[in-house]
Amino acid sequence: MAKHLFVALCLSPALFACLSSSVSPSKDFDPPRSRFSFTEPHMGTRFKIIVYAPDKTTAKSAVKAAFRRIADLEDIMSDYRSTSELMRLCQKAGGEPVHVSEDLFRVLERSQEVAQLSDGAFDVTIGPVVRLWRNARGTHELPDPKALAQARELVGYRNVRLNAKNRTVELLKPGMQLDLGGIGKGYAADAALMVLKNHGIDQALVAAGGDIAVSGAPPGTDGWTIGIAPLLDPDAKPKRYLVLHDAAVSTSGDSEQFLEVNGKHYSHIIDPRTGMGLVGHMSVTIVAPHGLIADPLTKVVSVLGPERGLAVIEATEGAAALVVGKTEKEIETFESKNFQSLKQKGVR
Ligand code: ADP
Ligand code: MG
Repeated sequence: MAKHLFVALCLSPALFACLSSSVSPSKDFDPPRSRFSFTEPHMGTRFKIIVYAPDKTTAKSAVKAAFRRIADLEDIMSDYRSTSELMRLCQKAGGEPVHVSEDLFRVLERSQEVAQLSDGAFDVTIGPVVRLWRNARGTHELPDPKALAQARELVGYRNVRLNAKNRTVELLKPGMQLDLGGIGKGYAADAALMVLKNHGIDQALVAAGGDIAVSGAPPGTDGWTIGIAPLLDPDAKPKRYLVLHDAAVSTSGDSEQFLEVNGKHYSHIIDPRTGMGLVGHMSVTIVAPHGLIADPLTKVVSVLGPERGLAVIEATEGAAALVVGKTEKEIETFESKNFQSLKQKGVR
């Protein structure tokens, strides 16, 4: 007799993964798999990993290796740890090219591609400005305009030079600070899925807050059902759902990380053209083949707005976007042309 399961999980302020699956009767060639779920804190958020595996021991050892991979990536990409590979690279800003790990190079290479295609709306050299806004969230005062102007002098993706042949990175101006907060979690979710695959687990979900990557569909289903939380009441039951396998979905919006001054709401997403946190309420959801692609594109659409942002999404293979924004009077929704067709299948 088929057992029916319905489990709803809150994964982030803006994305929920709900899983409804029927456990199919065992077949000779496909042993029944059970669902196992684990969480660990990494990269300033809680990572959740859900796997289907033949038994708990298999699930546990695979997930342990996946979390270890995430921890290793945090050692590389963290901008909170002065000893991370990223921070050691920044300490050499203004100097010679620096040889870097494959992971760091891959993330920076994609960062530069997204910076180019968005005309700098996504820009990982935003670090000095992000730091000022982080302090501002502590003091509840807007960053000092003079300090902001100085920090902005150091921003510009064209001041990062990558050499793929030697796998080196050169930061042209002393004082430059890179910030991978807008791309690192998407990449970590991809990398964790890969580790699970290498352990024979190909039905899995990795959620890093608002960045989710999934492999094969849970047994007896068409995909992982992921709910998009309503803009104004993120804890309410989602009205829109995605059903995905072999894909990634990222959302950026009004998270817990924002600053409110004089009733104005400043997002942790910065417009590199002005150095200011975005104002207004907007949530952007991107579906793409990989987290490395989906995660940065949420910033592109947030910064450029629906019209220019969706044009970038439509020019990116396998990517789709949903934007929900609040104007003075109403909630407006925008979708890329392919959103309806991509929201319900594998895109990898
Ligand atoms: P999270 O996944 O933690 O919810 P997001 O994916 O929404 O965060 O990315 C927000 C983070 O990206 C910010 O905290 C900051 O570190 C970085 N960031 C902010 N603005 C930009 C930008 N324009 N380009 C690149 N990175 C940015
Ligand atoms: Mg993200």
